[in-house]
Amino acid sequence: MNYYSLHKQSPIASFKEATILGQAPDKGLYFPETIPQVDKELISNIENISNEEIAFRVIKPYVGNEIKEDDLFRIVSETVNFPIPLVLVTENISSLELFHGPTLAFKDVGARFMSRCLGEFVKGAGKKVTVLVATSGDTGGAVANGFFDVDGVDVVILYPSGKVSSVQEKQLTTLGKNIHALEVNGTFDDCQQMVKQAFTDAELNKQLFLTSANSINVARWLPQQFYYFFAYKQWKQKEQAPVIAVPSGNFGNICAGILAHMSGLPVQHFIAACNANNVVPNYMQSQQYQPKAAVATISNAMDVGNPSNFVRILELFHQQFPQLKEKFSSVSITDEATKQTMKRVFDATGYTLDPHGAVGYLALEEYLQQHSLLKGMFLETAHPVKFYDVVEPVLNETVPLPESVKDIIDLPKQSTKINATFEALKDFLKQ
Ligand SMILES: *Cc1c(COP(=O)(O)O)cnc(C)c1O
Repeated sequence: MNYYSLHKQSPIASFKEATILGQAPDKGLYFPETIPQVDKELISNIENISNEEIAFRVIKPYVGNEIKEDDLFRIVSETVNFPIPLVLVTENISSLELFHGPTLAFKDVGARFMSRCLGEFVKGAGKKVTVLVATSGDTGGAVANGFFDVDGVDVVILYPSGKVSSVQEKQLTTLGKNIHALEVNGTFDDCQQMVKQAFTDAELNKQLFLTSANSINVARWLPQQFYYFFAYKQWKQKEQAPVIAVPSGNFGNICAGILAHMSGLPVQHFIAACNANNVVPNYMQSQQYQPKAAVATISNAMDVGNPSNFVRILELFHQQFPQLKEKFSSVSITDEATKQTMKRVFDATGYTLDPHGAVGYLALEEYLQQHSLLKGMFLETAHPVKFYDVVEPVLNETVPLPESVKDIIDLPKQSTKINATFEALKDFLKQ
């Protein structure tokens, strides 16, 4: 498979090139030249096919021969080696729990796949790659865990001191080995600015092979299709395809779901569930795309004012608004409604939603009220314990720590404190 830049000003790239570069030189996102179709048999017989094989068959056309089949099979097996159950919450609404991976959020899937692909690509290169990433919370943990102990790859994570949750900080700082956490005396924007400057610094780039692990990378985007297939495998009413609501921020996750659908996966309708950051819901009303500064909400992983992956969704629909509107809708949910939903669902069913999943739940519930013959699922994108400071006061309950968190919560934090200047980062990298 080859990939073109959506800005159309860069050469075509292979999967390997697109993975290493992340973004095309013209700053466009990479997009596959064709949308492969899965075998009809994969869908009709899905209940009898293992998750590893489903994942392998879905991703194979995107990778082509750039990774040997055995290695690719091992990579996808390691990517999906935790449960992804579809859990019934009410008669009409199920939760696809994407939080059983090592860092308790769906980003584990993309990060595990990407890190292993990059590991393969640097194997023969005889050169060490340094992955630089700025995080406001979830991405850093997933990337750290995904790249942990991958040969030939060093990871440097910048996070704003005092501005990530305690669970998130432990996930970033307790691994050691090839993972280095820089605790920056500044904000997330400072961290991002420092990373950006590093990518353009001639001296550093002569010394080091720097790459990023951000969410627009095709090797993080494409494997997110896997769990939409796993969801369908567990869907009981095969005669009626599900409505799927996806809590959305940068729109990579939902875009992967739409891609899976265009490759042959039955889906009735997609709902992009947003918090107060409503650029896409507004676009669906007005057909005007107007990015805004992000506003802070309780579902903070979705606080994005200019969602990068929305251009990929438009491309999937060939820029045709009527076709887009038929398959896709988007709504904005307030923090107040999110909290009420968490409380109401917990009281009625005993199910604990995290603030992101709650946005998805309410968007789906409202849609099903208008379409009473349909049933659906929402993606529960993170474990509620990651956001216990929001969840516990709303529910008046404590959220028990899962085993994977218990294991790290008492480990010593290992981080290097630095000032929020590019020089401080450069000094660290040059050591
Ligand atoms: C990153 C994240 C999202 C948003 O996903 P996108 O692919 O950026 O739309 C939603 N929920 C959680 C918990 C996240 O970490």
